[in-house]
Amino acid sequence: MGESMAVIIDGKKISQDVRNEIREETLRLKDDRGIVPGLAVILVGDDSASQIYVRGKKNACGEVGFLSREYRLPADTSEAELLDIIGELNRDHEIHGFLVQLPVPEHIRTEAIIEAIDPGKDVDGFHPYNVGRLFSGNPYHRACTPAGIMELLDRYEIEIKGKEAVIVGRSNIVGKPLALMLLERHATVTVCHTRTKDLSGVVRRAEILVAAAGSPGMITGNMVRDGAVVIDVGINRLDTGKLAGDVVFADACKKASYITPVPGGVGPMTIAMLLKNTLNAASVDDKQQ
Ligand code: NAD
Repeated sequence: MGESMAVIIDGKKISQDVRNEIREETLRLKDDRGIVPGLAVILVGDDSASQIYVRGKKNACGEVGFLSREYRLPADTSEAELLDIIGELNRDHEIHGFLVQLPVPEHIRTEAIIEAIDPGKDVDGFHPYNVGRLFSGNPYHRACTPAGIMELLDRYEIEIKGKEAVIVGRSNIVGKPLALMLLERHATVTVCHTRTKDLSGVVRRAEILVAAAGSPGMITGNMVRDGAVVIDVGINRLDTGKLAGDVVFADACKKASYITPVPGGVGPMTIAMLLKNTLNAASVDDKQQ
């Protein structure tokens, strides 16, 4: 048993660093080319977690000097009405990026919504065009949570090349896009899910372990390889009201070389990467000279 404790990856600080850089870049874009990056967020219904996320995105826009616009639509908004607003935003020169906060109510088809967004303005990186660009090794807008994880690894100068990476979770927003990003950086990637046989055995091989299952405490200390880099994406609200990750933090700390806490690890990076995608979209804007 090693005595050493893991380095705790400070996602809050890195997220702030990224936002400071974006604020400076935004000032330059304004001064040099008269462009103010604009981000719009559409919220359908009154899901309380979604409301918190939307507020966070608006505040972050204000902090870096972006224009931000919010559309709060009632839960019974039809798919056609939502598609109309998406069409308007696709044509709106003030708005460089926008997203529809997921999940949308059941009568609206998520794929139809995602596919209606102009891929250049799809700053969530969920449109099949952007997914395809990532798949073919030439990414444009990358999904924000996995891109945030890559940013954390890079800013802590954690080597990825040749490493055995194991991801628990295969969702379209975290597990799958992250697998492609790690593969692109020459990791050997395994993706686990609910039907994986001998999950513990596979997870124990990981030099980079990413837990994105949404199952509190499912990764116990004995599943963590000595010296592993442990990235905990899970955000789980416990009965006590506290937030917990998918990893048993205190135990994993004794085995890992680096570890992200929950909260304050991956979570704060998502909005930072959303801002970064929006800034990139605004930088290629050639309509406002
Ligand atoms: P999801 O429910 O869409 O996908 C979960 C995946 O984990 C599935 O592929 C499933 O097969 C797998 N899984 C679930 N339980 C498992 C188990 N016991 N063993 C093996 N595999 C299992 O979830 P998601 O949207 O990808 O989110 C995952 C977690 O990450 C959630 O806790 C979510 O809140 C969190 N999350 C955080 C951020 C952020 O930090 N900004 C962003 C997105 C999601």
